[in-house]
Amino acid sequence: MQFKDVIVRQELKDQLVRQIREGRISHAQLFTCQPGNDGFALAVAMAQYMCCEHPTETDSCGECPSCKQISKLEYPDLHIYFPTCGTKSVKSMDCESALFMNDFRKYVKSNNFHIDLTDWVAILDGENKQPAINIRDCAQILNQNSIRSYQGGYKIYILWCADRLRHDAAPKLLKTLEEPEEKSLFILITDKPDQMLNTILSRTQAVKFPRLSEEQIEEALMKEFPDLTPEVAQRLAIHADHNYIKARKSYPSDELSDEMLADFREFMQSAIFYAQRQPLERVNYQGINELIEKIASKSREVQKQYFQFWQELARKFLVAKADNGTIIKMTDEERQVYDLLRGAFSVKFVTDLNKAFDTAILHVARNSNTSLLLTDLYFRIVDFLTPKRK
Ligand SMILES: [Zn+2]
Repeated sequence: MQFKDVIVRQELKDQLVRQIREGRISHAQLFTCQPGNDGFALAVAMAQYMCCEHPTETDSCGECPSCKQISKLEYPDLHIYFPTCGTKSVKSMDCESALFMNDFRKYVKSNNFHIDLTDWVAILDGENKQPAINIRDCAQILNQNSIRSYQGGYKIYILWCADRLRHDAAPKLLKTLEEPEEKSLFILITDKPDQMLNTILSRTQAVKFPRLSEEQIEEALMKEFPDLTPEVAQRLAIHADHNYIKARKSYPSDELSDEMLADFREFMQSAIFYAQRQPLERVNYQGINELIEKIASKSREVQKQYFQFWQELARKFLVAKADNGTIIKMTDEERQVYDLLRGAFSVKFVTDLNKAFDTAILHVARNSNTSLLLTDLYFRIVDFLTPKRK
């Protein structure tokens, strides 16, 4: 992974390269990302630059043995940690990242380093557990830190989703973060800095990631998917809410976005009519049943996209209502649906809806029956919208 392929603002890359070249890089960095930022990719690019045999003024060479090994996450002095949990095949309450390293490499590679926790958790297929960076991982770090580096250069530790560091494991790392061995670099990555322990925050230097612009997302999409037309790239970028990972996940199917939007309109409109006790032919529950069966017949991945897309739309509509449509960008089609449904989108409704979608997304990931899920969701929405007697 070279800097040139990392999707973050250029200033941020320049700043890190400058610090590395001037030898004043802080040994414990905390990458505080926005959701969908390339934090992991940037950390790997940084490791690659520091270990490259022929670095230029701006990037690693991409060709030397170190660069090649790091790109494959196989470099012996690059140690990567990430959340894991017991699964059907690995039964443990305290499992190590190393046990899942092959799966993780495959996941990173197949997504060109643009990774997020939701997808990783789905791959882990843990049974109802919260994945974490565990005690054994910390013991492993201490062990690695106590021995010499294989290549004689830097030892680099990347902790992806560092907010998932188990609170009973974190204290083991404090001393190492405070007084590291010479030539070691820790890069902790999080998009939830508020969930990090203060003791960790105070021992790391925060590197803040600026939000990506829609233009930047558009450009990156065109580069990653050369057959994408500029019009579609622009629409995906607007839909993505400054989140590159989300934008690339919706590729290639902008048609899918259109379909998800049309289905949202039908689903919500029917629920609103139902709650208003409108005549049954307006509610058209038969149509909703067909819609539910159609969505349930799609792949799990698409089903999840449906819920995430609908959740994001609801949030967007609420914000648009508050700001009179000045900040939130919408496509023309979205605006039509917004104009039709906006009356229903109160703060209370969107809060309830948000929770219902979170639950639905979780259940989809756990292979629940999607027809039942959607039917339940429909009647919950009707319930949210029905005026309550005091
Ligand atoms: Zn190189």
